[in-house]
Amino acid sequence: MTKTISRRDFLKLGSAAGITLAVGQMLSPKVAQAARDAGHLNAAGDGTIPSLCEMCVWRCGLLAKVQKGVVVKLDGNPDNPHSRGNLCPRGQSGLMNTYDPDRVLTPLIRVGQRGEGLFRKASWEEALDRVANGMLDIKQKYGPEAIVFSATHNLSQPLFENLLYGFGSPNYGTQRSLCFNAMIVANLMTYGTEEPARNYSKVKYIILTGRNLMEAISTSETHDLSQVIDEGVKVVYLDPRYTKTASKASEWLPIKPGTDMAFHLALLNIIIGEGLYDKSFVERYTVGFDILAQEVKKYSPDWAAQITGISIETITRIAHEFAAAGKYTLAHNGWRTSNFVNSFGTQRAITALNTIMGNWGTTLFPGSGEGAGLGAPLQPPYPRVSALRLDGVPWKYPFVPLKLGIFQELREGVVNGDPYQAHGWFISRQNPVMSIPDRGRTLQAFRKMDLITTIDIIPNDTAWFSDVVLPEASYLERFDPLNVVGDKAWLRQPVIEPQGEAKSALWIYKQLGERLGLGEYFQYTDEEDYLRQQLAPIGVSLDEVKKTGYAQLPVEPPNIYNWNTTTGKIELFSETLSKAGFEGVVKWEEPPVPAEGQFYLLTGKMAQNTQFGTQNNQLLHKYSDEPRLWMNAAVAAERGLKEGDWVEATSDVGRIHVMLHPTEAIRPDCVYMTPGYGHLSKALTTAYGIGACDSVLHKTFTDPISGSQALSQTFVMVQKA
Ligand code: SF4
Repeated sequence: MTKTISRRDFLKLGSAAGITLAVGQMLSPKVAQAARDAGHLNAAGDGTIPSLCEMCVWRCGLLAKVQKGVVVKLDGNPDNPHSRGNLCPRGQSGLMNTYDPDRVLTPLIRVGQRGEGLFRKASWEEALDRVANGMLDIKQKYGPEAIVFSATHNLSQPLFENLLYGFGSPNYGTQRSLCFNAMIVANLMTYGTEEPARNYSKVKYIILTGRNLMEAISTSETHDLSQVIDEGVKVVYLDPRYTKTASKASEWLPIKPGTDMAFHLALLNIIIGEGLYDKSFVERYTVGFDILAQEVKKYSPDWAAQITGISIETITRIAHEFAAAGKYTLAHNGWRTSNFVNSFGTQRAITALNTIMGNWGTTLFPGSGEGAGLGAPLQPPYPRVSALRLDGVPWKYPFVPLKLGIFQELREGVVNGDPYQAHGWFISRQNPVMSIPDRGRTLQAFRKMDLITTIDIIPNDTAWFSDVVLPEASYLERFDPLNVVGDKAWLRQPVIEPQGEAKSALWIYKQLGERLGLGEYFQYTDEEDYLRQQLAPIGVSLDEVKKTGYAQLPVEPPNIYNWNTTTGKIELFSETLSKAGFEGVVKWEEPPVPAEGQFYLLTGKMAQNTQFGTQNNQLLHKYSDEPRLWMNAAVAAERGLKEGDWVEATSDVGRIHVMLHPTEAIRPDCVYMTPGYGHLSKALTTAYGIGACDSVLHKTFTDPISGSQALSQTFVMVQKA
């Protein structure tokens, strides 16, 4: 008999194991025994268990502190290079994610209308059969390409990709085009590597473009930056907003949005024009310098001052200071950079500035390889896929790597049914309803779907609109494939038994794969067997790794002066780009500007939350202020607006109501809001009803080279509500 459940019942399902904010429960006999076997716990049940954080994708090493058999705290693992003994606020609150009273702890099948939040409990057997049969039905009617697969970067991604590519769909949505496509593609076109490693130990001068590292925390890099600031290294920080990073920097430049490229072009103009660059490095290791030098003659400090709002004197002084630091400089690539369609050009200008200073091998190095030396279960080759990708990669966007894709264009392909109509969406650990710009349009895409499946630990907004929700074990409850950092492979292992019926992604993908006829892509008996197969080539036992938390890898030192580009050198001019009809050398691209009465809409990070996934964490919630719309204090006063007033912000695609925060800490032409709020899922009892959603306002703009979404190119009107 089908029993429908209300929102209240849905919430009760989340607490099926009777958990009520029960941080600190006894270890289950199985986990306690494993911890004793590995030597982590003494006879009294005290000790620490090493594992990895997953409150963001940085994967710091953690030590779960156990007292009398109860996990009481998470600390940073001093041996792990990403944590170095520290966890950020999100990492510290990880137990509360696992013990979230809203956790989904049993498979759920929708019984009401999409978005009503009416589900019934189902067994794993029934839920997996339902998903597999639904996917096979769509495949038979419309072809495998009619299912879209999307997931956020995580350690079990290779198995997710086995499902996707084994099934035969080309449609792969990741979060990367909403984040760092411009940086990655610019690095690939210049250095032939996705992201060079930064070394702060010798740095003397940093230009940081929009990377708010004190709030967008990656523990080790945030620590590196703090340390060099303490040591007196000069940090020039460009951001239209006075963030916590601005407060720590030596100099804050409130640059006009979208003009960071002009600032860097002017630095290139001065440093090259006055011959202050590293001539022997440029001659030996680069191609295209003469073309770059000719191009940047146009970009005088006078020209850049008018565009950026930064004075000629400041630009000139910074160029001279930067040049004086020689190869001990770092023009930081940032992450999303300026969030305009010219961000790819901005990134190319930053890479050019680094290159002419000859800092490669001093502050920048080749990125480390992933997974070298580890094994994997055998599997057959993937079937040939002839269908075009819905996101236009590579047939419209030849330079976007397939594994990055363009998520916002994928959504557009679904809405427009172009070049064909998709009918199913399989989503793992991702929240496209919140993350893709223009939420209304994402919900429109959902309405085209016959089957939406979501794997997650909480009933997020995407789960709320799904047909089947599969409960994943949290990162503290499961094993994952090994995480390679430098010369070590780090282990995520359970410190708590999975609650309810939650299962690891490795288990879920295998079960589903077998039902889809793809069992050959999942040749492991369980999670530990998968890990043993990974460790086999290096001759290390899983028991040893459980004890230490990592396996040592044989790593050959890279040849740092060997670039994986067409010419084998750093490409200041790219013939590949030029032949494809794009600019081979960085050239100024004028960004759009708001009309009279409009503001640039800025978004950014806060230290307490990770994108859209942690706002329901009760500990983080407790230490977060109600999110408000920042507006320059003078501008607010002119409009008769004051702290706490409700305002309406309107863009071309949406409207929100939000509380106002007038502040001196933002340019007069900008407003700012923190993403990750304004949830639609009423099952998120902590986060629901808090703040407003930036994706409602964001318009879709895609950079034609890198596929990056230009988030700051949305302009809004603001008035009293
Ligand atoms: S940066 Fe913070 S949230 Fe991310 S892995 Fe490290 S401790 Fe966890």
